Amino acid sequence: MNFSSAIPSTFLPIILSSPSGAGKTTLTHRLLDRCPELRFSVSHTTRSPRTNEVDGRDYHFVTREAFEAKVSAGAFLEWAEVHGNLYGTSLTEITRTITLPGCAGLIFDIDYQGARQIRAKIPEVVALFILPPSLTELERRLRNRASETEESLRTRFAVAKREIEHYALFDYLILNDDLDRAFDERRSIVIAEHACRTRRASLAEALLRHGVL
Ligand code: ADP
Ligand code: 5GP
Repeated sequence: MNFSSAIPSTFLPIILSSPSGAGKTTLTHRLLDRCPELRFSVSHTTRSPRTNEVDGRDYHFVTREAFEAKVSAGAFLEWAEVHGNLYGTSLTEITRTITLPGCAGLIFDIDYQGARQIRAKIPEVVALFILPPSLTELERRLRNRASETEESLRTRFAVAKREIEHYALFDYLILNDDLDRAFDERRSIVIAEHACRTRRASLAEALLRHGVL
């Protein structure tokens, strides 16, 4: 399926990436609260649910066998191994979400490998990367979140720097030092991208066609 031709020109696909613990989930929950036109793309993963996570809302939690069967069936727009687990964005999830009433944008919370794959298939995607203020602060936040085992923490820290080194794959870099400021920056990017010429061209054409302008 050619996704670029299936997605309306007004639609805003947004990738959000960062090393684990930099603040993607926190910023995304805030953005979804304030922007009713945006929806969240629920990924599939083989990792175990955290205590506060709900199957079908935060992730579709599946076994490695089930995930691999979906890979073989070509069910994913993108997928990757991250921190020893498999994660992927299913084609069904995207078609389901973009046809929801009032949906004008979709957020993909994915890693840089997935970002690279989506960009190749949906060139109009807007890709944001969140930078932590420092690796020390990243570690502090991840430990405070108390969601990971010591082994999982070590895996996540070990790849954090490599993940940050891929910043050039992204269109925007947001420093998440102060949460309110980072949120304002992210919200401003969404507002500006909704108004960019390519997304507003059909509106201008319609207004001209109907003699309003
Ligand atoms: P990610 O989804 O990128 O792994 P989270 O959104 O879960 O990261 O954030 C990791 C932890 O850091 C959470 O406990 C969150 O409350 C905290 N956090 C996020 N942003 C900030 C910030 N700007 N200042 C302090 N703590 C933050
Ligand atoms: P976590 O286990 O902390 O929820 O996520 C770990 C990492 O996997 C994060 O960098 C997150 O963005 C990434 N991730 C989550 N879902 C997907 C996905 O569908 N595809 C890819 N490529 N990465 C994902």
